[in-house]
Amino acid sequence: MSEVDKAVTPETATTKKDWKQTKVGSVFVSNYPPYSFWTDSGVKDVEKVLGQPVSENAPSLGLYLHIPFCRKRCKFCYFRVYTDRNAADIQRYLDALAREVELYSALPRFAGRTPSFVYFGGGTPSYISVKHLKALVDRVKATMTWENAEEVAFECEPGTLTQSKLEAIKEIGVTRLSLGIENLSDEILRENGRAHVSKEVYQVMPWVKDLGFNQVNVDLISGMVGETWDSWKDTVQRTLDLDPESLTIYQMELPFNTVYSKAILGEGSEEIPVADWELKREWHAFAIDTFTKAGYEVSSAYTLVKKGGSGKFLYRDSLWRSSDLIGAGVASFSHVNGLHFQNQTHWDGYLDALESDNLPLNRAFVTTHEERLTREMILQLKLGRIKPKYFQEKFGTDILDRYGSVFSQLSAEEMLTFDEREVQLTRQGLLQVDHLLPEFYDSKYRNARYT
Ligand code: SF4
Repeated sequence: MSEVDKAVTPETATTKKDWKQTKVGSVFVSNYPPYSFWTDSGVKDVEKVLGQPVSENAPSLGLYLHIPFCRKRCKFCYFRVYTDRNAADIQRYLDALAREVELYSALPRFAGRTPSFVYFGGGTPSYISVKHLKALVDRVKATMTWENAEEVAFECEPGTLTQSKLEAIKEIGVTRLSLGIENLSDEILRENGRAHVSKEVYQVMPWVKDLGFNQVNVDLISGMVGETWDSWKDTVQRTLDLDPESLTIYQMELPFNTVYSKAILGEGSEEIPVADWELKREWHAFAIDTFTKAGYEVSSAYTLVKKGGSGKFLYRDSLWRSSDLIGAGVASFSHVNGLHFQNQTHWDGYLDALESDNLPLNRAFVTTHEERLTREMILQLKLGRIKPKYFQEKFGTDILDRYGSVFSQLSAEEMLTFDEREVQLTRQGLLQVDHLLPEFYDSKYRNARYT
């Protein structure tokens, strides 16, 4: 899992009403407008846009590579992942992934452009073998070199790492290593279906430190099934002891299509004891307080970074400022010049398209000027502060005027403060920012299912 909109995140928009309990249906806002408005008829626009040469003032370019394999499906996971693929299947998938990048790089829109940032997401990128990883990277770099990329981020599941795999990850140029630890109680990890145990975290950390990655990020989830105050305090303290440069905390959700959600919605209407939002926010706030006392600072609603360290997260910040992004891989999302598009979401459809030398496009959406403004504003609000001047200069819109009633309402609820220089979320606002963002949506998108 990553801190941002992983390029493969499906969700559902909810409004602020009726959100005390953790109910099925995700609240995490990763993109706008909702995916349910993207259509297959929009795919023709993709071909048109990608066939045009890039203008001089094009934004930076990113490359997302989706590795959809995991050892085991976590019970809260809603990503497109496969837990039953053998080495030959993986090779076939990686060949298609590399082919996809080759097809993109041959298009006028990307001619001569190299990515400023690269993101290996999943699934579990660290699941694949060193041999597979190196072959993939050699082939992708031969088409679209990332020698000048400022950031190469890579997600890992601790139990899939060995010293030699970490060395290979370092060798391919990874600067930001993200470890999906989620919790340090083995009982909680097991209950939630995680493949790793805490011992594996302690085994890999010395290797990670020795290799000297620019930035090591650790992911935690507040409110996994079975969590208590004592277990959470223990996890937070032991995470602090690991001394990461960056900590990302999510609040547990129950999106559609997870093992837990299916159990709740299924015939047995099973009760899954997920803490309510208030308690998850208290746990999240406790972690923020513990880390800030220890010398970290808040860098977004989800992330804390060591003061004075290399806390920059280019992938997140670029996407939230509408960089172009090639999202390669099954079900991946791309964004180019205000056009959103998503790949085929199933194994066969994705592979068949690429094995016939076609881009595996599934659905797309052309945004309006207004939608692009809203998208950037709501995503950047997750950083905790936005500057009206930025939106005035980029979009020619005074957001305090355009969204004045929403800002006033949220200010009255003590979720934010604002003046002409800055809109700043309060601690309470930041802890529940995803619940607040639909207030800014165009009315036709509110309460829409995102997927
Ligand atoms: S490690 Fe778990 S949460 Fe992450 S992608 Fe795999 S199954 Fe999903």
